[in-house]
Amino acid sequence: MQGFGPTIFAEMSALAARTGSLNLGQGFPDSDGPSSLLEDAVDAIRAGRNQYPPGSGEPELLAAVAEHQHRFHGLAVDPATEVLVTTGATEAVAASVLALCEPGDEVIVLEPAYDAYAAAIALAGGVQRSVPLRATATGFTVDADALRAAFSERTRLLLLNTPHNPTGAVLTAAELAVVAELAAAHDVVVVTDEVYEHLVYDGLRHLPIATLPGMAERTLTVSSAGKTFSVTGWKVGWLTGPADLVTAVRTVKQFVTFSGGAPFQPAVARALALPDAFFAELAGDHQRRRDLLCEGLRAAGFEVRVPAGSYFVVADPRPLGFDDGTQLCRRLPELAGVVGVPVSAFCTPGGEAAAEVRPLVRFTFCKRDAVLSEAVERLQRLRTH
Ligand SMILES: *Cc1c(COP(=O)(O)O)cnc(C)c1O
Repeated sequence: MQGFGPTIFAEMSALAARTGSLNLGQGFPDSDGPSSLLEDAVDAIRAGRNQYPPGSGEPELLAAVAEHQHRFHGLAVDPATEVLVTTGATEAVAASVLALCEPGDEVIVLEPAYDAYAAAIALAGGVQRSVPLRATATGFTVDADALRAAFSERTRLLLLNTPHNPTGAVLTAAELAVVAELAAAHDVVVVTDEVYEHLVYDGLRHLPIATLPGMAERTLTVSSAGKTFSVTGWKVGWLTGPADLVTAVRTVKQFVTFSGGAPFQPAVARALALPDAFFAELAGDHQRRRDLLCEGLRAAGFEVRVPAGSYFVVADPRPLGFDDGTQLCRRLPELAGVVGVPVSAFCTPGGEAAAEVRPLVRFTFCKRDAVLSEAVERLQRLRTH
């Protein structure tokens, strides 16, 4: 794990705390999830649900995840054999990589990417093959030729993330079809991180790659309660997929955490069954906050690609005279009393993707309106820096 020191996220959060800056760097909500969910967890603790849950997860959560996959995505999974509850999406991804990637095997990652992926591949002794997403005027897209060129005989896995952190991209059906075709042609398993599945805007819909023809049998679909229900500290996640792959991941998972989150599991099970209005409100609410932040960033002089999903927006500060996102992030607390994170922190250092996103800064909009408004107001100072 050499080279995996403390991340820039820790540095930026410490900087925010030290300078009293508004932290739009780390992506965690500043208000709790639905009160019914919180009450259900309290009730579960009082009802004595405090000992080890089964290694696969509590049966009611397994059933609720299966029901959710069917209700929102039309995916049919057997709760007994095709669902695994994990300690957050992070463990689901890490255990999948540890289970399916042998030392020397290659894993394709679209960059920028959530930083836990590179660490999981390193832990497994795998070799990461990075493919840069292409920044266009409207957003970030999959470069089919670059992706095709990244496959080799040693490719075992492809890690996908949509809606995407940090860019906010929501992969289109056409992009997913390219990924699916290549994965099938090279007999590669896709591990897809869909923690932002309910944070998609402008009437778009999230499309799990497992729903594409022939993909259910080679896809592990990962999600989590953290983002959907604004309880990131609970670390209740899950994955769904074919029984043989889920069994392999369970084998690893039982020796990592075995199980966890006993009273949270039944509470999350009930939340997954909340009416459609809850999920629509969640997306609508975040779309409003997205627009508030995007408009404010534009007014402050940034160039902004409006994200179709997730709760992040990527801002380009070059019109303001900054061309290095990392340097800008280190100075932003002093210049404006706001913290963001450089997008290059989500890339292999020195790689092609890092160079491409070098100027860019990621800000989160999963904060209260008052915090976003104040942040936006402070950022206007950059015009006169
Ligand atoms: C927040 C996040 C996670 C972490 O999920 P947990 O359930 O907290 O482990 C995983 N992947 C992405 C892309 C994220 O943004």
